[in-house]
Amino acid sequence: MSTAAPPSPSAPPSSKAARWWDQAFQAAGWAKGTFRVDILPADADPMDIRYNIIQWVHRYTRGWSYGSAVVDPRTGEILKGNVTLGSLRSRQDYLIAEALLSPYVNGKPLPPANDPMLQMALARTRQLAAHETGHTLGLAHNFAASSFPHTPEESVSVMDYPHPYITLNKEGIPTLAQSYAVNIGIWDKVAIDYGYREFDLVEGKRHYGVSFESPEGLNAILEASEKTGLIYITDEDARPFGGAHPHAHLWDNGTDPAAELDRILTIRTAALARFGEDAIRPGAPMAQLEDTLVPLYLLHRYQTEAAIKEIGGLDYRYQLRGDNQPAPEIVPSAEQKKALTAVLKTLSPDTLTLPEPLLKILPPRPPACPAHANPSPPRPASPSTPSPPPSPPPTSPSTSSSTPPAPHASSSTTCASPTPPPSAASSKPSPRPPPRDPKAATPCPPK
Ligand SMILES: [Zn+2]
Repeated sequence: MSTAAPPSPSAPPSSKAARWWDQAFQAAGWAKGTFRVDILPADADPMDIRYNIIQWVHRYTRGWSYGSAVVDPRTGEILKGNVTLGSLRSRQDYLIAEALLSPYVNGKPLPPANDPMLQMALARTRQLAAHETGHTLGLAHNFAASSFPHTPEESVSVMDYPHPYITLNKEGIPTLAQSYAVNIGIWDKVAIDYGYREFDLVEGKRHYGVSFESPEGLNAILEASEKTGLIYITDEDARPFGGAHPHAHLWDNGTDPAAELDRILTIRTAALARFGEDAIRPGAPMAQLEDTLVPLYLLHRYQTEAAIKEIGGLDYRYQLRGDNQPAPEIVPSAEQKKALTAVLKTLSPDTLTLPEPLLKILPPRPPACPAHANPSPPRPASPSTPSPPPSPPPTSPSTSSSTPPAPHASSSTTCASPTPPPSAASSKPSPRPPPRDPKAATPCPPK
């Protein structure tokens, strides 16, 4: 009676996407294949600190996915990365796709080979695996990334929270062919360049036995990034409802939040016009249409939050004295008014009212059909101190192992073998923190 099972072939997309990070390491001067991801040997223990792990877990409720690391407190060196991907997220993604596509035309089921919902869920799994692997490398969220000008084929950062990029085809039907990124982003390359590029060491600059690189080299990386227009804004400024940054949003798209809200409302209208019994599988309770309808009815909710931040918004950077970044600037009046107009559309009766034909096919739920097949856990009190998942999830065998290069190790170091034991690794310098606001482990909520 559930809407869909999570995609079982999770290991191939997860490992493939984690390998995207090799693109960033190559851009930072490392040899191709330095960052490797392989299927974990059958006799390996996922708790073995010599292995970095990506694991796929099943939980009854929605929960966070994680990218965390075991870090040497003396040096900051990342000793082991551990990614946990929750499979239930795929069920939610599948549900969103069913709502958008109403795919079961004339009651016909779809074979897996011709299942656009499955393809979208797998695309999301790839993006998520890359995202959480980024956390194990020491990177924080960049919630301003999606506002940087780019085409759907380009990626700015897998460290943003992505809303699926939905378009309408010539017939006005929603499509998901370009729903998620397929490569590492340009900001991700900047972050890895800053954190992992090897420079000539500056003689005489040592602190507790760790050598420091020239600050000029590191500053040059950030200055070059600044000139491209890339912005870095993270959780503390993007998550609060009172956040005022016009570019820092979660689950949004587009350089112009108001224009994107208009666009997503158009897609929502088109999808609602087609929405009906073709949105659920043959034989499913008609009342299940309620579950499928919810993510479509609320399709514009995150983009609405993005547009709202333009109203009274303040565009700013994490400035340092003398770094030549632009000073804070209030969002121009015309853009604020445009955002207000777009937001007010979300309150109009046309937007809030469901189509009359749809109301006539929604019956009350039958006794055996639970009110919510996909219950949500309580919202964390604070994004920085998330509640643990409701119950300890049974952990399935690890599906793959990702082994980042030991930071600053020789470029001949490969990850075919487990990382060196701590005694050997501790002789290497520790990784630099990511630009300005390091976070080694940051949980990601479900949608
Ligand atoms: Zn995250």
